[in-house]
Amino acid sequence: MRPINYIILHCSGTRASRNFSGDDIDRCHRLRGFSRAGYHYYVRKNGTIEKMRPEDMPGAHCYGHNKDSIGVCYEGGLDENGHPGDTRTPAQKRSLREIVRALKQDYPQAKIVGHRDLSPDLNRNGIIEPHERLKECPCFDATDEYADVELLPQGYSGNL
Ligand SMILES: [Zn+2]
Repeated sequence: MRPINYIILHCSGTRASRNFSGDDIDRCHRLRGFSRAGYHYYVRKNGTIEKMRPEDMPGAHCYGHNKDSIGVCYEGGLDENGHPGDTRTPAQKRSLREIVRALKQDYPQAKIVGHRDLSPDLNRNGIIEPHERLKECPCFDATDEYADVELLPQGYSGNL
């Protein structure tokens, strides 16, 4: 298995009012020239987790970090007016936490981050500030949200 340094959260960038399936993602990414969907996992609004590509295959979801990361995407990220927003349903939040926790078990050294947190640090102060973000994806603070998962001792399998 390749080294995994990051678990990267994404949103599909589609309106929460719209249904956008794993097949839709797959089709869009193939049109962009990828061999298949760029993410490893996709979480639908109803909480269903779709496996998109094998974990041992590098992703196509985050420039500069595809080789050393696993990409997890949720359906949505835009409100009904097309503005970026945390549109996750309670079922999506539960499933995202479940998959992030499982990945953290398998890759304990991996840092949990959002796509936007890997934007270039333009003023090199060590912090990716909002004005430096290339885009808002995944529209919530992944590091903050999964801070408790990040702190779990290796091998811990209790409920969160
Ligand atoms: Zn993204």
